[in-house]
Amino acid sequence: MQHVVVTIDGPAGAGKSTVAKELAQRLGALYVDSGAMYRAVAWLAVHYHVPANEEEPLLQMLSEHPLKLYRSRQGTMEIFVDGHSISDQLRTPQVSDIVSQVAVHPRVREQLTQWQRETGKHESVVMDGRDIGTVVLPDAQVKIFLTASLAERARRRVAELSNQGYPLTTEELIEAIESRDEQDASRAVAPLQPATDAYHIDSTEKNVAEVVEEILILIRKVTHE
Ligand code: C5P
Repeated sequence: MQHVVVTIDGPAGAGKSTVAKELAQRLGALYVDSGAMYRAVAWLAVHYHVPANEEEPLLQMLSEHPLKLYRSRQGTMEIFVDGHSISDQLRTPQVSDIVSQVAVHPRVREQLTQWQRETGKHESVVMDGRDIGTVVLPDAQVKIFLTASLAERARRRVAELSNQGYPLTTEELIEAIESRDEQDASRAVAPLQPATDAYHIDSTEKNVAEVVEEILILIRKVTHE
């Protein structure tokens, strides 16, 4: 298949990363989890006790502890800081609680947007996030806006977090997800919103394989293969 760029945006817990990972594997493309980059900044803020709502100290922290991105053998991205991989520490409730505050700052976004544009510049890529189809890769051939009902998104996150040893209730997750979506959709710079040319998929009653198939059909149509 020819060089293809696919973006998957949508609210928290809609299944973007699971779908994007599987799709990238099917396409032999690089998978880029842009949320992981924002989470890495939030992780650093927690680790170094830097207030998430102050841009200048966050930028200073990033210049002292730069994030390094490496491609794993599986075609996914690993994030290193201070010489260690932090990829498996990015989805904790502590990081999730502050990541949307970190993502508000225009100059933090600028740095991450630049990295996101660089990654996979020369190969097929599937990138998921909130502003990928609108701001980061507006020329992508295929743009997906993936949603699911709030109850279903909370249910999926409860399962994911309990597997990782964080037994949160559905009510707690509904509150956390709603608050994150509200912050992401209302920020001034690169808010969560569908691109005008995005294809909308509601995954509430679809499994991962069905969503991936739907996107693959769309890609074939667009690329005429
Ligand atoms: O995708 P994930 O839920 O891991 O993203 C974590 C957070 O990172 C989002 O809630 C949002 O605040 C921020 N984010 C963003 N722009 C992106 C990806 C993520 O602002 N492209």
